[in-house]
Amino acid sequence: MKRSFLSLCTVLLILASGCVNTSLSETASATGNSKTEKDTIDTGAKAKKEATATEVLSKKEVPVLCYHQIRDWKASDSKRAHDDIIPPANFKQHIKMLADSGYHTILPDQLYDYLNYGAKLPEKPIIISFDDTDLDQFTVAAPELKKYGFKGVFFIMTVSIGRPRYMSKAQIKTLSDEGHVIASHTWNHKNFTQFTDEDWAIQIDKPTKTLETITGKKVEYFAYPYGVWKPETLHKLKEHGFKAAFILSTKRDETNPLFTIRRIIDPGTYTAKNLNNSINKSFK
Ligand SMILES: [Zn+2]
Repeated sequence: MKRSFLSLCTVLLILASGCVNTSLSETASATGNSKTEKDTIDTGAKAKKEATATEVLSKKEVPVLCYHQIRDWKASDSKRAHDDIIPPANFKQHIKMLADSGYHTILPDQLYDYLNYGAKLPEKPIIISFDDTDLDQFTVAAPELKKYGFKGVFFIMTVSIGRPRYMSKAQIKTLSDEGHVIASHTWNHKNFTQFTDEDWAIQIDKPTKTLETITGKKVEYFAYPYGVWKPETLHKLKEHGFKAAFILSTKRDETNPLFTIRRIIDPGTYTAKNLNNSINKSFK
């Protein structure tokens, strides 16, 4: 009974917050507490306990997919590039398979509230994410998601905004207004493990500000370029305003699991069945 009341509170608060970014989880991150400590958060209504790292790691993982370019292959593409380039026809089949299989897309705030506070998720939850700002994500992918009422997460590298073959500010704003989440993928794709002190301003703080100015919403999620990270500086992302960060399919960090949320690439070479098998195998 108590648990269902808490869930109801969570749902009501999330519904009430809408685009205004006043959700439970934000209140929590504002306290700056480490996930490794047990703690209670005053939400103004009901105190909520943050999960420990062990608790986060023990939860069933939510599948997160990662896409880059959505276009037909060219003769000049390397075989290796076919992992990151999915032809539109394949992409459409894969998204249809997800809908037909009963998947429901969720957004990072829902995943964060599930991992950190035990909030309920819809049946067969999944996150669909896109990296690197490619224009075809707006022209090809977004309309396909719309057919099924799906929402995605777009990790933007801000240096490319407005360049040929990349999304414009107006397109990014449109995605945000339509309920997709705009998130950070650095300024120019610099490897996170090579960040200098200056890079925390150049690759993190400035891109956040740029994206927040475009969307009018807070930017609280990050994806590591190349999926590469190092444990020593994960905590700094929290100090710079992020609630969680996404890697690729490597092992999560044991101290900061929220900053190493796993994703798998859906390669252009996969059939829809391959993708389904890969999801079931990779997220347990
Ligand atoms: Zn990237």
